[in-house]
Amino acid sequence: MTQKYDNLIGGEWVAGGAYTPNINPSNLADVIGDYTQASAAQLDQAVQAARAAFPAWSTSGIQARADALDKIGSEILARREELGILLAREEGKTKPEGIGEATRAGNIFKFFAGECLRLAGEIVPSVRPGISVEVTREPLGVIGLITPWNFPIAIPAWKIAPALAYGNCVVFKPADLVPGCAWALAEIISRSGIPAGVFNLVMGRGSVIGDPLVNHPGVDGISFTGSQGVGGRIAQQCAANLKKVQLEMGGKNPQVILDDADLAQAVELCVQSAFFSTGQRCTASSRLIVTDGIYTKFVEAVKARMAGLKVGDALQAGIDIGPVSSLSQLEQDLSYVDIGQAEGAVLVAGGQRVTCGTEGFYMAPALLTDTTAGMRINREEVFGPVASIIRVKGYEEALAESNNTPFGLSSGIATTSLKYATHFKRHSQAGMVMVNLPTAGVDYHVPFGGRKGSSYGSREQGRYAQEFFTIVKTAYTLS
Ligand code: NAP
Repeated sequence: MTQKYDNLIGGEWVAGGAYTPNINPSNLADVIGDYTQASAAQLDQAVQAARAAFPAWSTSGIQARADALDKIGSEILARREELGILLAREEGKTKPEGIGEATRAGNIFKFFAGECLRLAGEIVPSVRPGISVEVTREPLGVIGLITPWNFPIAIPAWKIAPALAYGNCVVFKPADLVPGCAWALAEIISRSGIPAGVFNLVMGRGSVIGDPLVNHPGVDGISFTGSQGVGGRIAQQCAANLKKVQLEMGGKNPQVILDDADLAQAVELCVQSAFFSTGQRCTASSRLIVTDGIYTKFVEAVKARMAGLKVGDALQAGIDIGPVSSLSQLEQDLSYVDIGQAEGAVLVAGGQRVTCGTEGFYMAPALLTDTTAGMRINREEVFGPVASIIRVKGYEEALAESNNTPFGLSSGIATTSLKYATHFKRHSQAGMVMVNLPTAGVDYHVPFGGRKGSSYGSREQGRYAQEFFTIVKTAYTLS
């Protein structure tokens, strides 16, 4: 019999209406556990519990908050292997990638434990004699956190840790596909000394509990990461209710390769950021923009590197690329390979479903050449191991092509030219720019986020997180 896992509401573990099996995408016969589905009434109870806990928590000492976050971070780091394996089992990242993500989550809690003590205000002189002015930050209130399936422990961590650090209460709705890491994190938080109701976990479908969370009058702000379609609707709902909102959404991230690039380095960083983590990263490179002089050598070298990639069970040693996370995502990935070819692209590697011993959602990474900017394959986010190549004449065309997208999350350039690297950093219309590095793979202590259709609202992570999770007060005193 599989274990059952419940919601955390007001400090109690509470069963929902039904349980959904959490299936391993590497092996569909492997059920990780049965996870409860919260009802809309339970979502309301979670918000009420958070509201009730807010007055005491928001005025609690910063030492207590720092100690709790530090304890959570320490436990995650101590259990990083176990949590990394759980992550690999439910989401399909390879075991080393899973352990890396769990480590990142632990480090984020440690970082925000320190941030509890570093939240400073300002005292500024008034333009009127005899008056002093203080500018301080206060907690926003009760925050609804909604997360996607592709980083099931790191994204929850980078929302929950700053929310708690700055004195907010939380109602957390993880992606329905990956409740396992969310539940494990909630269980750790429940033993950290944080009072009942400060942190609540509600599991279930976005349409059933995500929507009421966004529209609940007891929620002061929504921090969302996910697709542009869902994010756009949430922004409209929050605007209608005058609610603070922060959205991190999709990408169609360009990686420019110039003639003067170090070929081996360029190939490695492209293969890593396009295909590792099964291409299921918002920062993955999906458009490789290559200049004429290096084009033929580059395509041949990428094909050769791809031929050596091992696709297989995420928990097996030596695997480079785990399964796609779900059947619907696999179907979407394969359909974009077809769409690209129908538009005139040439499939030069991969692009098919493959078998790997166990029944799972395995796909050989796909590389499409002869693509042009207007093709759907270059405009829409696939969110799988699918990369397309656009051939350009030189740097200026490469820069224009890289910015020719409705998205603006991350971008990269491979070059040995200081002139082009500097120009690209300045003129790339992306929130994060990489020089001779993969577009995916960022630090946890600096701002994360994009421009254009990729992001909306203030940045996440690092000390910039305080922009969303606090509100500013200006106080005047006559002395
Ligand atoms: P998604 O379908 O938009 O879902 C994201 C979250 O929203 C899930 O928890 C989902 O619940 C919930 N949701 C769905 N409908 C909702 C509604 N009507 N109201 C409130 N919540 C609702 O995205 P996904 O497929 O999980 O994740 C992939 C996307 O996330 C990609 O576009 C990727 O680029 C993006 N992403 C962006 C970043 C970033 O930082 N920029 C990072 C990672 C991923 P259910 O699971 O129940 O549907």
